[in-house]
Amino acid sequence: MFHISKRMSVIEESPTLATAAKVKEMKEKGKDIISLTVGEPDLNPPQEVKDAAIAAILDNRANHYTPTAGILPLRQAIVDYHHRYDGLDYQASQVIVTEGAKNALYTLFQVILDEGDEVLIPSPYWVSYTEQVKLAEGVPIIVTAKADNGFKVSVQELEEKRSARTKAIILNSPNNPTGTVYSKEELKELGNWAVKHDMIIVADEIYYRLCYNGNEAVSIASLSDEIKKQTFLINGVSKSYAMTGWRIGYTIGDQAIINKMVELSSHSTSNPAGPSQYGALAAISSSQDFVEEMRTIFEGRLNYVYPLIEKLPGFKVTKPQGAFYVFADCSEAAKMTGYQSVSDFALGLIEEAGVAVVAGEGFGAPNFIRISYTLEESVLLEAVNRMKQFIEMKKNN
Ligand code: PMP
Ligand code: GLU
Repeated sequence: MFHISKRMSVIEESPTLATAAKVKEMKEKGKDIISLTVGEPDLNPPQEVKDAAIAAILDNRANHYTPTAGILPLRQAIVDYHHRYDGLDYQASQVIVTEGAKNALYTLFQVILDEGDEVLIPSPYWVSYTEQVKLAEGVPIIVTAKADNGFKVSVQELEEKRSARTKAIILNSPNNPTGTVYSKEELKELGNWAVKHDMIIVADEIYYRLCYNGNEAVSIASLSDEIKKQTFLINGVSKSYAMTGWRIGYTIGDQAIINKMVELSSHSTSNPAGPSQYGALAAISSSQDFVEEMRTIFEGRLNYVYPLIEKLPGFKVTKPQGAFYVFADCSEAAKMTGYQSVSDFALGLIEEAGVAVVAGEGFGAPNFIRISYTLEESVLLEAVNRMKQFIEMKKNN
């Protein structure tokens, strides 16, 4: 049959999206499944966001191509926002708006990497980093962050994996899937180390407004001018404003690289969807009350569900500080229920317990499962009860 490019043979489909799609299909067929899979808020964006997008369509501002980098008012609003929240100074020309943060990362790797360039990726990592690096002919170099160290990597651990080909490091704080948030001091140490070795810092800060129980995330670029120069800041509206379907993310950083990202996007996507850009503009320029309301809701859910998950037989967890996931070591649970691997255990949960989670394999942590807790507490309770019954039933068989 048809030839498939070599490029496509080095990557796998996103396991988060694939599991979520599988569950959706099973649900549509009438199967009773609680989905704790995909990482997205269950809330909806504020009314003013929806109104702004609709108004832009109705008065014909949003129906045509926009500049590839995004409409200027949105780029300016992004710059103003990061000035307000992080004390950062950028020019609007240093921003490219893209179809979600996913495409911001994809385009950045295409621009900065040559064949064989190495990218340090602390694991557990978000599933798309390794695949996007490979698609740019780069080499992902995994640096394992241990659960006992709160899933944080140290400069020493990174140094062991550094080579003459190391081009960049990806720092994702708060982290998907662990919810780990690096402190200001830790980030500064990592940042200074990257600067010393002339490494690009890819700072994926998409969850940085979602921290709980007194934890706070800082933007690494705000820690010194030297670090800022090396940093490409990745963010977007998907998580903070419950706008995953709108597909708006962005990169801010060095002008020459941003210009090349714009050139590439001019051939790949032309521009992010017009109505979405107007919605994102309203979200970013809004009072931000919505973000705080959502953060408070998620904090409540975390504090509710975490102790329940912690008590599940064979589950070992570390309390997350941000994002909206609990990452649980289930190697014991898999063993006691007779499964060969945690991936099989996760499959058993879907098929027999009616609870869908994402297996840790795609995050570089095969002994773990990721539980997304963006659901109402009553549903979370039901999900945990189902998991508990499933483990107890299997254990006794
Ligand atoms: N980075 C991380 C760490 C994520 O979890 C996600 C999840 N979607 C993204 C980037 C991509 O976000 P977006 O939906 O804006 O593409
Ligand atoms: N980032 C989310 C997740 O990890 C959305 C799915 C995806 O883009 O991978 O579930």
